[in-house]
Amino acid sequence: MIITNKHNLPQTFVNVANRPSYTKGKAHVSATELLNSPRIVQLKKKYDEQITVDVSDMIWSIIGTAIHGVLEQGKDENHIVEQRLHAELDGWHISGAIDLQIVHASGVEINDYKNVGVWSVMNEKIEWEQQLNIYAWLVEHVKKTPVTNLAIIAIVRDWNSRDAETRQGYPQSQVVTIPVNLWSMEERETFIRNRIHVQSEGLFAMDTGEVLPLCSATEMWEKPTQYAVKKEGGVRAKSLHADKEEAEEALLKAGKGYILETREGDRTRCSRFCPVSKFCDQYSAYLEEKQNGS
Ligand code: SF4
Repeated sequence: MIITNKHNLPQTFVNVANRPSYTKGKAHVSATELLNSPRIVQLKKKYDEQITVDVSDMIWSIIGTAIHGVLEQGKDENHIVEQRLHAELDGWHISGAIDLQIVHASGVEINDYKNVGVWSVMNEKIEWEQQLNIYAWLVEHVKKTPVTNLAIIAIVRDWNSRDAETRQGYPQSQVVTIPVNLWSMEERETFIRNRIHVQSEGLFAMDTGEVLPLCSATEMWEKPTQYAVKKEGGVRAKSLHADKEEAEEALLKAGKGYILETREGDRTRCSRFCPVSKFCDQYSAYLEEKQNGS
């Protein structure tokens, strides 16, 4: 990966970004890779030396690492911090680095630190549940010790006290413990097997030159185009529609003084966050279609 410094940040930041990242060792996949889109996983591997990331876009990841480092110092005698476990399933080596394991007489509690925006805390993130259950599988499989609880410790970077008082469902403090559903060992293993299957298909397609599995709408963080019926000069929509014809009917019913506004959809991950978008034919085909207005 090539790290650029377009905004001329101090060299310290570039040095930190260039630090050797931890290694998965002999593992084929890490827990987070197992959950990722197989297209992203394969393209990242193929174009690793050409992927360009600006250091300014790595700030939250650098701060996240710093937070982990500081919290490590709060370790107790019954805490195991930043332990990477490895296990094998269906011929695949799987590894996961677990932020914190709290060892009780009855078993192990697993915590994972996340440095996130408030949106992530207020909306369900199924991938957190999946990631922690892979860790739970690793702990029980490797250590033969039962896992009793899972939790995300979310540090909410854009939290503010005014919203905490006025907005429903808003986190009540800057750091929130979110309990996570613990699946049975059988469910965990079935889930991991399914993900291995998904990743194997990506690997096979890359090796044989076939088309890589396509990213799903969820994986692309797709927001569909919407049609808003609103008052001329107004901001808020009277009604929102996924279907253009339905929106046109609603416009007729709304009567004089109303207009139809097209709110263009987007594949947010592709356009702003995916490190391999430059190398992805699924995304270039989408852009071409958009340009041609189809
Ligand atoms: S650019 Fe979009 S479609 Fe392509 S790999 Fe990235 S997320 Fe998937």
